[in-house]
Amino acid sequence: MPELPEVETVCQGLARVLIGARFTDAEQHRGDLRTALPKNLPARLKGRRIEAIARRAKYILVTLDKDEVLLLHLGMSGRLVISHDDKKPPGKHDHLVFHFDNGATVRFNDPRRFGMCDLVAAQDIARHKLLRRLGVEPLGPGLTVDWLAAKFKGKKISIKNALMDQRIIAGIGNIYACEALFYAGINPKRKAGTCTKAQIGKLVPAINKVLNSAVASGGSTLRNYVQSNGDLGGFQHHFAVYDHEDQPCPNCRCDFKKTGGIRRIVQGGRSTFYCPVKQA
Ligand SMILES: [Zn+2]
Repeated sequence: MPELPEVETVCQGLARVLIGARFTDAEQHRGDLRTALPKNLPARLKGRRIEAIARRAKYILVTLDKDEVLLLHLGMSGRLVISHDDKKPPGKHDHLVFHFDNGATVRFNDPRRFGMCDLVAAQDIARHKLLRRLGVEPLGPGLTVDWLAAKFKGKKISIKNALMDQRIIAGIGNIYACEALFYAGINPKRKAGTCTKAQIGKLVPAINKVLNSAVASGGSTLRNYVQSNGDLGGFQHHFAVYDHEDQPCPNCRCDFKKTGGIRRIVQGGRSTFYCPVKQA
């Protein structure tokens, strides 16, 4: 599933090619993804110019002229693939294909179809039903230690599940919740409301660190690969604890023979990976 850093990479890759470009054509090959696609989408896009591309949580906001926004979400398996001088017919899962006056083609490919696409007036975007309840951006100025401490106060759910609550912080998925808690040295089972100010003081920079480093690694993937195969999804990134069950802890001096290394538990139906020593 594309997580926030991957979506940020996609936005940067799209912006590089599409800012200022005009849709010359759009192909729509089905009526719906996770939700119905906008009515008359190809006709409404044709001739429109792209003015800005931004990310909100894991949503991609493509601002068009005439104050409309094309809202995209990659869901579980969505990818946006950029190509140039592309005459290939649409592939089986290319549900939307956009053509631009600079020769670029963008395919929205989504085998599992949990992605979404909407076209809304710019003035309504903050009130959009999928966006209006989203919390602060994890890499934005709204996420401060004092603010998060106030949000967590009295919360009886685990810190791991609180980090994944999109109404508090929007865009932290399972992988980065595990990684941030590891770097902050906080046990994922701890109740959010019992975290000390000192712990939250470590957690906020840990969130920034794990997301920024993944965005940077996505950026390097972009430089290396986007020109050749156009695939903006799926980049390799190395994690400290995520998916490392029973492997030695990378960052602390815990004794693997005694601890057995990184543990996996299930919280809220998702796997959590942590070091029982560093995150005691
Ligand atoms: Zn450790």
